[in-house]
Amino acid sequence: MTRVFNFSAGPAALPEPVLRQAAEEMLDWHGSGMSVMEMSHRGREFIAIAAEAESLLRQLMAIPAHYKVLFMQGGAIAENAIVPMNLLRGHAGADYIDTGEWSKKSIQEARKYGRVNVAASAADSGYTTIPPRQTWRLDPGAAYVHICSNETIGGVEYPDAPDVGAVPLVADMSSSILSRPVDVTKYGALYAGAQKNIGPAGLTIVVVREDLIGQALSITPSAFDYKTVADNESMYNTPPTYAIYIAGLVFKWLKDQGGLVAMEAHNRAKAALLYDYLDRTAFYRSPVARDCRSLMNVPFKLKDDALDAAFLKGAEERGMVQLKGHRSVGGMRASLYNAMPIAGVQALVAYMQEFEARHG
Ligand SMILES: *Cc1c(COP(=O)(O)O)cnc(C)c1O
Repeated sequence: MTRVFNFSAGPAALPEPVLRQAAEEMLDWHGSGMSVMEMSHRGREFIAIAAEAESLLRQLMAIPAHYKVLFMQGGAIAENAIVPMNLLRGHAGADYIDTGEWSKKSIQEARKYGRVNVAASAADSGYTTIPPRQTWRLDPGAAYVHICSNETIGGVEYPDAPDVGAVPLVADMSSSILSRPVDVTKYGALYAGAQKNIGPAGLTIVVVREDLIGQALSITPSAFDYKTVADNESMYNTPPTYAIYIAGLVFKWLKDQGGLVAMEAHNRAKAALLYDYLDRTAFYRSPVARDCRSLMNVPFKLKDDALDAAFLKGAEERGMVQLKGHRSVGGMRASLYNAMPIAGVQALVAYMQEFEARHG
């Protein structure tokens, strides 16, 4: 068996010990005689698995008791509708910050449910910056302020949670959740699809302040009403049971690694290795402003894009896959989620140097 260094933006690499444990437990979970996939979501075994996953996530992120943790489905793209349906709470609209492809999608979808005020946009920079907080034109009557914490495609990331005063901050954290500690109390709600930094596709994590739920628009599907989901402990409908189980194993793995403080150090070391090299050479470049470069997704360009295909082919021959940039921006993108070991980034930088020496 050979495992590659998988730089995919998502679904993405998972920690090998988690995959091994899942393989061992595949046919018989803890003497139950069943695979987790075969268990009733209302059975004693699975209820314990889900409770353990929630408890570990609460510990890792230091989620206070007045926040609900919801295990949902539909991904961040469904949340683009579910958020306004649940959180407009009688307000006419909400503020959105436009920092790239994913926030644009959130904005388009929210317009179906309320008035969207784009309070700031990085369009003029070609989405290579985060608009400075003092330039945001926030509406004090907004239901919430929505941001995308980390733009998976453009590779821009907020260094910290912006201060938006009393209006609840809502964040799409799909590609940065669990990469470093966050102060959950700065957010009214945050959400993330699991397939970047948590586990298999199919699970969506929502963390929402309790006082914000219970006022969903009447058109909200019951399965997407945060109050209904919370009141039923995420079991109003059948949750993505196997994905929750794997997520729980990943949470345990993160705890064993030293939690999110240790993860941040690990992720900063990996990102620095790659960005430092990008800044030292004229053969490759990072398009993103230095103060908002993503720790998780690093887009970069070769001096001559005619070399892109040869670069990707050579990388693949060396066991490094999924480095092609998103079609909307071109070039390359290396995603360095928690499960990417530093050895993967060392191998990538060594290959980039070798390629530069041959073609530079
Ligand atoms: C991947 C991603 C999405 C889309 O998630 P789906 O699970 O496909 O709905 C949305 N936002 C961000 C920031 C992402 O990285």
